[in-house]
Amino acid sequence: MVNEEYRGLVYPWGRQSPVEHGQPLEVAPGVWWVRFAMPGGLDHINIWLLEEAGGWTVVDTCLKLDSAKEQWESLFTGFMQNKPILRVICTHLHPDHIGLAGWLCERFDCEVWMTRSEYLNGSLLLSYTSDDLPSTALQFYKRAGFSEEQLKTYQQRFGTFGKMSAPLPHSYRRIVDLETINIGDHYWQVVIGQGHSPEHACLYCPGLKLIIAGDQILPRITPNVSVFPTEPDGNPLEYWLSSNTRLLDILPEDLLVLPAHQSPFRGAKTRLNQIIDSHRQSLALLYKNLAESKTVPECFIYLFNRELKEHEVHLATGETIAHLNYLLQRGNVTREINSEGLYTYRANPNSQFIHADDVAA
Ligand SMILES: [Zn+2]
Repeated sequence: MVNEEYRGLVYPWGRQSPVEHGQPLEVAPGVWWVRFAMPGGLDHINIWLLEEAGGWTVVDTCLKLDSAKEQWESLFTGFMQNKPILRVICTHLHPDHIGLAGWLCERFDCEVWMTRSEYLNGSLLLSYTSDDLPSTALQFYKRAGFSEEQLKTYQQRFGTFGKMSAPLPHSYRRIVDLETINIGDHYWQVVIGQGHSPEHACLYCPGLKLIIAGDQILPRITPNVSVFPTEPDGNPLEYWLSSNTRLLDILPEDLLVLPAHQSPFRGAKTRLNQIIDSHRQSLALLYKNLAESKTVPECFIYLFNRELKEHEVHLATGETIAHLNYLLQRGNVTREINSEGLYTYRANPNSQFIHADDVAA
């Protein structure tokens, strides 16, 4: 084992994955790490195969890609020894996690296990086609400062969620917060996080001292926490911060974290604190710089501290609004519509800003 230390975390297998795509590695008795390649910045997703007496439980599935199906096929007949998949657990609704759930469930005649919000929201997103773009969605991004060109791109991409994911099965097995599930020789507890997605399931195994963390606790990237047009006044950052604070209370420090992206690590509490702190600092910086009113794009610099590439603007907009809505709902900022029809935000000097300690930081 390498046990590479980096920024307060320890990576037992090093920061760079030793797992070739398609070659599973046992990270704990009966728990196998396999990596699937994906296009784009994320590059890959980590899938977890849990060994059971009569077959396998799999956690997350990869995008609906021919290459991913091929990788699964070679796992079925190779490493998995033609033993069936008994259930597919999906941590959350994003296509890299649910993409092949329907395909796997159909093939093995098994159920998908998900939380209710993830299953229902995922099913809804999968049902949208390009004809379904509501005018409220366009208005949302117009007010957020999208240019005509950016609106056009958004319009063209609307309804493509279903291209990245096979349809979910028509029924599912619901999992709920703090429920325990027997998998293999151990029991696993479902621990819910919110904010990155509505009801994200992590799987905590006290006996093996590990947690399958999905996107809730990633070692080096902070998962996107965004407001979307379906819930324009939503406050996902509040849920993100409170659910991560709760995880801090529930989880022990000496835990192997199995994230959906990048490499397994130890230091769950350290990482949760880093994630929480980074948002608190962004909130403080944003608040401090809203003495004069600003539009959403004018706030990007305080959150991302660099020039954004064109393809990053969509998620950056959602994430910036998440921070602004958080401040808005606490009365720390006010929002108006300017003469061009854009939302502008200004700090409310009479409000109590609870992250005042972070302003000087
Ligand atoms: Zn995700």
